[in-house]
Amino acid sequence: MEMKFSKRAMEAKASEVRELLKLTDRADVIAFGGGLPAEEVFPVEEMIEICKDILIEHGTRSMQYSTTEGNNQIRSLMQEIMKEKGITAELDNILVTSGSQQGLDLTAKVFIEAGDKIICEKPTYMAAINAFKPFYPDFLEVEMDEEGIVIEELEKLVKENPDVKFIYTIPDYQNPTGITMSLERRKQMIDIANRYDVLIIEDNPYSEISFAGEPLPPIKSFDTEGRVIYLSTFSKLVCPGFRIGWVCGKQSIINKYGLLKQGTDLHTNIFSQLQILHFFKKYNRKERIDYIKGIYKRKRDVMLTAIEKEFPKEVSYTTPVGGMFVWITLPEKIKAKNLLEKALKENVAFVPGDAFYAKSHVENTIRLNYSGVEEDKIKIGIKKLGEIIRNEINL
Ligand code: PMP
Repeated sequence: MEMKFSKRAMEAKASEVRELLKLTDRADVIAFGGGLPAEEVFPVEEMIEICKDILIEHGTRSMQYSTTEGNNQIRSLMQEIMKEKGITAELDNILVTSGSQQGLDLTAKVFIEAGDKIICEKPTYMAAINAFKPFYPDFLEVEMDEEGIVIEELEKLVKENPDVKFIYTIPDYQNPTGITMSLERRKQMIDIANRYDVLIIEDNPYSEISFAGEPLPPIKSFDTEGRVIYLSTFSKLVCPGFRIGWVCGKQSIINKYGLLKQGTDLHTNIFSQLQILHFFKKYNRKERIDYIKGIYKRKRDVMLTAIEKEFPKEVSYTTPVGGMFVWITLPEKIKAKNLLEKALKENVAFVPGDAFYAKSHVENTIRLNYSGVEEDKIKIGIKKLGEIIRNEINL
């Protein structure tokens, strides 16, 4: 039978690395490859009670079709979170989404025509590339340093490409590099966006998980023209399986997101929305943030101490001040994919960095996740990786 797939379906292929990493879903593999939140923080017992509370309080309404914009009480909670970050939003500025990932998919649907130029960080979040790609944008990559996007490079790009649709950025503890954009750069970014009339998509799933005091204000908090669209999620603070995220932006833009969301899923799972809502009615959000931060910070410390001890000096790495990832740069002659094949034989997995570049190919980088791995396994895995890297360098 002829499959009659669309061009985008024909082009959608699992990467070689993804296939390799599929093999790592075994208990004996130390998996630095996934981007998984720590499972030990998932509130299982609490949710047993909350499910009952929901069914008693909301009955059949918790099972019925619901509004596309989302439950108003959870939107109020999102509004409160935005306010704490210096973002003033009305309920109409907020759309509840099935995770931030849906926010990215809708961003593509709302803005991208084939051939449109969009700017993203080099490297950037792999699943954002995958959300945008089926709409055939022309990706322009902007260089980063330890303070985030290099502003001179960004300005050059928008100057040379006045028709750029949007800049996609992950300012806090970026996935994959763990880099945080400095306050100065955030202000410079909004200034550039205003001067060159570009939109910014600010993707911020990790903001609260800050190991160094209060998180920096989001770029959107400096936005006076409604040109920043802010995406966030409860995936890291509660759990990702409920799939509750949100998009916050100018009402006319959020309306379009809502209209296109209808064609995707009518509305976000109402039971999940109520689960998150009741969880934060019952448990203090600040305490929850502190609890998660404590666990993630300890894991980060264990990973960085092990890297410092076990990795050869030729290897450089980032020191994330929040979030879930460390980014490794190997000597140029080392190919991360070859390293992965060797590491898998030793039951250690990671993602070669190449998957995180929208356009260019960079073969000597690695993303390591610490949140999803137990502390003693982090030590063992990093020791093994260190040996494999040393052998590869000495080849
Ligand atoms: N954006 C970034 C940068 C992420 O790292 C993730 C999760 N890994 C997402 C979006 C998607 O998160 P969610 O679970 O809310 O869909």
